Amino acid sequence: GNFSLGLTGGIGSGKTTIANMFAELGAALIDTDLIAHELTMPGGLAIPAIREQFGSEFIAADGAMDRAAIRQLVFGSLEQKHKLEAILHPLIRSETERLAAEARGDYRIFVVPLLVESGNWKQRVDRILVVDCNEETQIRRVMSRNQLSRAQVEAIMRNQARRQDRLNAADDVIVNDGDLKNIREEVLRLHQQYLQLADISK
Ligand code: ATP
Repeated sequence: GNFSLGLTGGIGSGKTTIANMFAELGAALIDTDLIAHELTMPGGLAIPAIREQFGSEFIAADGAMDRAAIRQLVFGSLEQKHKLEAILHPLIRSETERLAAEARGDYRIFVVPLLVESGNWKQRVDRILVVDCNEETQIRRVMSRNQLSRAQVEAIMRNQARRQDRLNAADDVIVNDGDLKNIREEVLRLHQQYLQLADISK
């Protein structure tokens, strides 16, 4: 079907975990974080432009973008952040469309961390599913998964949409505070709705 779902949520809310449950049921996943990551891996499509824009000191020995160096650069300067985004966003967009055209599944799910922040993305999808999670849980998950301090996680969260703004943009919400077993039932219920919508939009 032609139906496209946008799945979003704050850092550590459980987007990937929940997207994978939908994939097991038959949805096709297009993960924009993965796409962005691959663009900046050795040989990635964004590497030449990053080298040109920022200099070879931002490319690691293996040919990948030097993530730590770039992170420092863009945390310190909005202008540099916009320059990086001007390189990455069009490439993410074209790679996303390429993979979406190839995708095989009952419907497509675009996993987009900053979907609510992007007008383009909101228009691109038929429906928005927000994975919601209380902020203390988010902070704990990301601290332990990424070995970050509380202050670092809070800084990332301040750069993302506020929880309430995401909820306001949502057509559907999964609350992922508790046991994943209960989430599975919710995922199945939504999947059945999305199958119907995909049928209608065929
Ligand atoms: P990011 O934005 O950082 O990519 P995400 O939203 O994709 O994160 P996940 O990677 O799915 O989130 O989950 C973050 C971490 O929390 C993972 O280690 C995952 O295993 C764990 N997690 C997710 N949901 C739950 C849950 N309901 N109970 C316990 N742990 C969970």
